[in-house]
Amino acid sequence: MVRIIADPSVLLSYSLLAFSSFITSATSWTKLTDAGLKKIPSPGDSLHPDLGPLLKPLLIPRVVNTEGSRKALAHFTTFFGGMDWSLHYDNFSQPTVLSKDPVPFSNFWATLDPPWKKNDNQEGEIARLVLVAHYDSKIEPKGFIGATDSAAPCAMIMHVAKSIDKAMRRKWAQMEKDGDEFAMADEPGFMVLLLDGEEAFKWWTAEDSIYGARHLADKWESTMHPAHSTYKNHLSSINLFVLLDLLGGPKPRIPSYFKTTHWAYQHMADLEIRLRAMDLLESGKDHALFLPDRDKTVFPDGLQIEDDHIPFLRRGVDILHIIASPFPSVWHTMDDDGAHLDKNVVNDWAVIVSAFVVEWYGLEPFLNGNGDGMSTVAERGNKTEL
Ligand SMILES: [Zn+2]
Repeated sequence: MVRIIADPSVLLSYSLLAFSSFITSATSWTKLTDAGLKKIPSPGDSLHPDLGPLLKPLLIPRVVNTEGSRKALAHFTTFFGGMDWSLHYDNFSQPTVLSKDPVPFSNFWATLDPPWKKNDNQEGEIARLVLVAHYDSKIEPKGFIGATDSAAPCAMIMHVAKSIDKAMRRKWAQMEKDGDEFAMADEPGFMVLLLDGEEAFKWWTAEDSIYGARHLADKWESTMHPAHSTYKNHLSSINLFVLLDLLGGPKPRIPSYFKTTHWAYQHMADLEIRLRAMDLLESGKDHALFLPDRDKTVFPDGLQIEDDHIPFLRRGVDILHIIASPFPSVWHTMDDDGAHLDKNVVNDWAVIVSAFVVEWYGLEPFLNGNGDGMSTVAERGNKTEL
């Protein structure tokens, strides 16, 4: 059915809505105060390679279509299901360079959306910030763990999700109480996307790599939301695709790769600078910046690294690529294991990205001073001094 809206007053309210969306998306970034920064939950030991309930289960080989891969997926299901997020699986099979027989792959995503957008057919009305990592590991060398590639990034994202889960729900309960329809219509959701099949089975080529990302980008582009939706498909509802990869090694350096999303890089870099100056990062006040490019103005063409973002980038999705360059020294060797992670750096990434998400959604008023069952970064500092 095509509905033509002819009533001028309705047209006016529609255009006001569009105007308010524009203003909100352009200006809604809410900087954390110093007091707010201190309330960011610390991962504590949850990302410890030997003890951490988030990371340890992932430090196993996770080759596509193996027991390890299924264990990783079960770990995500238990974790996000336990927080009552909506869980989604994109299961598909396709031939690889190793065999003509189709191999099963499984992408996973979990969403946390405003409760008023969960009902009916609201999928086309929800924009989302998406945090992304790949969970598969490389088939060779045999027994390869891929701690930075990308077990640690997956676990960091799990900590971020846990850090903001309750604050998001408190924010939305408050919004429902306030009943501001424009704000409620604009309110985005949040997605964690964990991709399968990033690694090549033989040599990295366009055909032998990023199997999961290629499949999902294609599927999301071709699956349309209902007519008249604000966002025509799943790709257009991605506000920003933040891809974490090759993180957790010592002395990381992450350039700003894209001029179009440098604004987001700058927000994250600012947070690192402030957290570091307040001595809230475990790598210490004087550690070299992980994100040194805040003031970069020249973006040479072609500076990018092939990764899971490529099929999304080619379809016009905004990408923030948080990948170490140079790559960690242990890259694609047996040494990319738990023992070679830098525990302070792993925790700091989890804190920096958590703070970024807290600012994105304006969650400071809804952060619990006691870390919602985790310690806060400020308390961690106190504990170290004792
Ligand atoms: Zn790799």
